[in-house]
Amino acid sequence: MQFETKTIHAGIEPDPSTGAIMTPIYQTSTYVQESPGKHKGYEYARTQNPTRTVLEANLAALENAEYGISFSSGLAAMDAIIKMFGPGDEIVSTNDLYGGSYRLMTKIFSKFGIKSRFIDMSTADEVGAQLTSGTKLLWIETPTNPMLNVVDIEALVKVAHERDILVCVDNTFSSPYLQNPIDYGADMVLHSATKYIGGHSDVIHGCVLTNHKAISDELRFIQNAAGAVPGPMDCFLILRGIKTLHLRVQRSCENAEHIAHFLRYHDAVSKVYYPGFKYHPNHEIAAKQMRLFGGMVSFDLVNNNYAAAEKILSNTHYFSLAESLGGVESLIGHPASMTHASIPNEERLKVGLTDSLIRLSIGVENVEDLIQDLDKALKL
Ligand SMILES: *Cc1c(COP(=O)(O)O)cnc(C)c1O
Repeated sequence: MQFETKTIHAGIEPDPSTGAIMTPIYQTSTYVQESPGKHKGYEYARTQNPTRTVLEANLAALENAEYGISFSSGLAAMDAIIKMFGPGDEIVSTNDLYGGSYRLMTKIFSKFGIKSRFIDMSTADEVGAQLTSGTKLLWIETPTNPMLNVVDIEALVKVAHERDILVCVDNTFSSPYLQNPIDYGADMVLHSATKYIGGHSDVIHGCVLTNHKAISDELRFIQNAAGAVPGPMDCFLILRGIKTLHLRVQRSCENAEHIAHFLRYHDAVSKVYYPGFKYHPNHEIAAKQMRLFGGMVSFDLVNNNYAAAEKILSNTHYFSLAESLGGVESLIGHPASMTHASIPNEERLKVGLTDSLIRLSIGVENVEDLIQDLDKALKL
C-alpha cells in the first residue's frame, strides 16, 4: 500500500457493529464483561479504547512500523520513553532541540538522575566521539527547530548501534509523509501529532512508533501505569486529520519553497534557513532522506534586533503570531521569546538563534497571498 492510500485505509475497517464507515468515537471509560475475565479485548479505557486502537494501527503504518502507541501529547510520549531509563543513564541529543524536550530532560528527569547532554550533530564522527558508556539513548530531531539543520539519520543510527545505544527520532517537523526514520534503522519515532499529523490546530496528541515488541510492551506498561492516555475524541480528530496528511504537507512544502525564494532576495532579509537551498549545509542529506524539503522556513533580518522583528511579527495578516506549526493556516513565530524562551540566551546564540530570528510555518493558503502578506510587513 502506498503512503497516500495508507492515510485513508491502513488499519481502518467499517465499524463491525454498525458498518459506520468512519471510526466511531468510543466515549466510554469501561467495558462490560460477560463473566469475570471474559471480555472482547477491552477492560478499562486507560488501558485500551477502540478509537485509539484504530488510530495506533494507522499511525504505525504511516511510519512503516509494526507497533504504535498514542499519547495525550507529544511530550507525554517523550516522558514515557525516558521513563524506560534510570538513574545514571544518559541521553544525548542535539543542541537546537525543541524547547519543551529540553525542559523535560533538564528540569524534570535530571531530578531523577537521568542525565542529558546537547551536542552538535552535524557529523556522525563528532557524535560518535561524544557517546560514552553511560549513553543509553540518542535523541535526534531533524530538521531541527528553528534553525532547520538536517541530521543524517542513517549515519547516526550506525554510530549509536555500534555502541548498543537506542535511537529515537522526533519526526514532528518532517511528518511521516516526508521522512520515515525506521527505514534508516531508528528504534523509535516520536511525533507531536498536534502538528502536521493532526494538521488543523485543534488537538494536542503524541505517538511513538517502533518495530521492537519489547519497547512497545514497555511503553504500554508505562502508559497504563502512569496514565498519559489520549481521549477518544482526540483520537478521532487525529484520524480525520491524517486522511489529508499527504495533500496538506505536499502543498505546504510547495508554498514554503516559493516563500524561501522570495525571502532570499528581499532587501530586509539577511539570511534564510531552508533545507531546500543548495547552499544549506545539509542540503544533500535532506535530499537523500526526505521526500520534499518541508513546510518550515526561518529567516533573520538585516536589522539584527528585536524591535525590527517585533514590527514584522505584529503586522502580518494571514500569518498569525502563535506557537506551534503544521496546521493548514500559516503561522509566524519568534523563537527567542516563544518556543525557545526556556533555553538560556548564551545557548541560543551559540546556534544562531538571535533576537531577530523569525520562524514561519507555511500553511496551504494561496502562495501569492502569503508572499504579499510578508512583503507588506517587511516593508514597514
Ligand atoms: C510540539 C513539539 C513537541 C511537543 O509536542 P506536544 O504535542 O506539544 O506535547 C515535541 N517535539 C517537537 C519537535 C515539537 O514541535
